[in-house]
Amino acid sequence: MATLQLKNINKIYDNNVQAVFDFNLEIKDKEFIVFVGPSGCGKSTTLRMIAGLEDITSGELFINEAKMNDVLPKDRDIAMVFQSYALYPHLSVYDNMAFGLQIRKVPKAEIDARVRDAAKILEITDYLDRKPKALSGGQRQRVALGRAIVRNAEVFLMDEPLSNLDAKLRVAMRSEIIKLHERVGATTIYVTHDQTEAMTMATRIVVMKDGYIQQIGTPKEIYNNP
Ligand code: ADP
Ligand code: ADP
Repeated sequence: MATLQLKNINKIYDNNVQAVFDFNLEIKDKEFIVFVGPSGCGKSTTLRMIAGLEDITSGELFINEAKMNDVLPKDRDIAMVFQSYALYPHLSVYDNMAFGLQIRKVPKAEIDARVRDAAKILEITDYLDRKPKALSGGQRQRVALGRAIVRNAEVFLMDEPLSNLDAKLRVAMRSEIIKLHERVGATTIYVTHDQTEAMTMATRIVVMKDGYIQQIGTPKEIYNNP
């Protein structure tokens, strides 16, 4: 189980661009939070601070009440899925999924069990020996999801995971991700600039603009109000 608290978080990059202003949010266990807003509004930066891939300039991040600001990314119980898939081209699907566990010294038999379980859920068992270049876009995105699932992490972060897919596949993968969330139950933060994704996937939506939170609410509260 995982709760997150973001308290007065600000991000100023080295070039003095302030990307995030006074971000405050409490996330309950198993929520599916969607950050939505136009390009450049600070969604990715916020996600990357939660993952530990960017320093927090000021403010505090807690996961399960523990302060995380100075915890290394690899020591956070977080799995992340990127827009670009970021698969290793020279590794098989199996090894792409196993890699994050190998670097964490998970025993081999355990890795094998987790990779095969995830492959079954995502229906990519037949492709485990292939290299990423021999897969379609949708299959690659499944591998990227698989790589995150095998971590058994309490927190799932997804940064525009569907934006490289064509419209039809995007709709199909949307419901796959919702099913996955119901099954895995990890607390999830999902970044998108697509309102339909936000509306159909979120338990709560955080609308961002120019580095600020503009609105927080359920899809109903955000999109059905005049
Ligand atoms: P979004 O994910 O909503 O598109 P980002 O978080 O990527 O927004 O960017 C927010 C702002 O921070 C933008 O003005 C962007 O140009 C700036 N920014 C993002 N990454 C960096 C960086 N590494 N260095 C400097 N500025 C950055
Ligand atoms: P984790 O689950 O710990 O994020 P990954 O396998 O995704 O494990 O990544 C481990 C490290 O390798 C991270 O630092 C990540 O940024 C980096 N990485 C991931 N994909 C690639 C890639 N295609 N090429 C180079 N480095 C990568």
